[in-house]
Amino acid sequence: MRVPGATLIPLETFDSGARKPKEPLVRPGDVVAVLGLGTSGVAAARLAKAHGADVYASDVSAADLQKAAAAELGAEGIEAEAGRHDLGRICASDLVVVSPGIPPSAEVRRELREAGTPCVAEVELAYRDLTSRVIGITGTNGKSTTTALCEQILQTGGLNALAGGNIGTPLCEIALREEQPDWVVVELSSFQLADTDAFTSDIGLLLNLAPDHLDRYRDVSSYYADKKRLFRNAGAESRWVLNADDADVIELARGAEGTSYLTSTSGPVERGAYLDEDGVLRLALPGRGEAWLAAEELSILGGHNVANALAAGLMAALAGCDGASIGRALAEFRGLPHRLEPVATIGDVLWVNDSKATNVAATLVAVQAFERPIVLILGGRHKGEPFVPLIPWLEHSAGVVAFGEAAPQVVADLNDSVPAVHVEGSLESAVRAASVLARPGDVVLFSPACSSFDMFRNYKERGRAYRKAVEALERPGGAK
Ligand code: ADP
Repeated sequence: MRVPGATLIPLETFDSGARKPKEPLVRPGDVVAVLGLGTSGVAAARLAKAHGADVYASDVSAADLQKAAAAELGAEGIEAEAGRHDLGRICASDLVVVSPGIPPSAEVRRELREAGTPCVAEVELAYRDLTSRVIGITGTNGKSTTTALCEQILQTGGLNALAGGNIGTPLCEIALREEQPDWVVVELSSFQLADTDAFTSDIGLLLNLAPDHLDRYRDVSSYYADKKRLFRNAGAESRWVLNADDADVIELARGAEGTSYLTSTSGPVERGAYLDEDGVLRLALPGRGEAWLAAEELSILGGHNVANALAAGLMAALAGCDGASIGRALAEFRGLPHRLEPVATIGDVLWVNDSKATNVAATLVAVQAFERPIVLILGGRHKGEPFVPLIPWLEHSAGVVAFGEAAPQVVADLNDSVPAVHVEGSLESAVRAASVLARPGDVVLFSPACSSFDMFRNYKERGRAYRKAVEALERPGGAK
């Protein structure tokens, strides 16, 4: 699929030589267990079956989604259960495909370690059958946004590209296709990287690093060690896009084989993409320099999104996308729901949903994205990081509303410096408390810096609850 009129700039290295043959992971007759009946687990079960494996897929959850998935697989002749695991059977398998949602501390993972059963991520299983080139995206924050943006730029530029993985189509589903896209853009969490082996990216991005998931990792360095697996199978032809403004990123990528390209929002880079002193996003590659657009023409808010745009544009340029298409796609991209998403303006107060901000670093960039005074709603399930780094950015704020399990910690961390109120009960109560604090011209920012699991199934459900609570507020003049 090529868009007529779009100029493709072929990049010699991607066209030279055949791709390395990949060892199959699953052979006919192998016994394969799939843990987790989400969309990626279902796709993995199908791919393993297509390789002739004897597949058993299961999920401890008996929620509607999992039950429906089990029924669907059952109808296709794949044994699947929702609501329980047969642990003995899973441990005795030749291979287990593990959902990234299952933490290393889960009983099943402990038993698998003890049994020495090989475990892989769904992306690893898919990788062995991929003929598409891979753009792999990791970092603490901004992965989904940058993945969606990169897909949109590549498609605007006429390249045959698809987002695969957490957002978009499961990678195993793409791997099953007879006709695969030329490029797949894959979001890679640290949990997925932890269970990769041969997986590698033709173009890989490390966007940023900040403490996160301290409920799941022993310490920050073990979390970063999983991120470092992005570079594990680097070769001479690998291309790495690195955020030059993040010293930890540069440090982690040190010594990776291949060619590195940099992005920066704070000044020119020799080889990569940057924000110039006039506020224009620019590309600087050997033999190719161009301006894409002014940062103020981006629809997505905040300096962090300029960083995401530079990274996505640079990867698209490396894949062969022309500058005009990159500039156009960057201007058109509207962002994903639940990430700094404006949901309403009520009496000159702007209400913003950033439910996807599940760590302090994400909330920090959110508070920095606004010049107007902020009422910040924080809370949920605490993931172990202090809230103190937010203080300098909240000094002129009208206050913080703390809710959920983390509320006492929020108040303890902030209260000496920022007025923080603990609201008992639901998110609706927190929204009502914020509406009392907000003055005309303020923004009420729901950027919780915590996971949603104390009250909600996930950040999406939490974001929808926020929107609903905002919509239920009294409008000036009594209208709802
Ligand atoms: P991820 O997939 O890595 O969780 P998302 O694109 O879903 O990333 O964004 C998650 C949260 O992180 C959002 O609240 C968003 O505003 C914030 N964020 C996005 N990009 C960045 C960035 N480059 N640096 C820091 N925070 C970011």
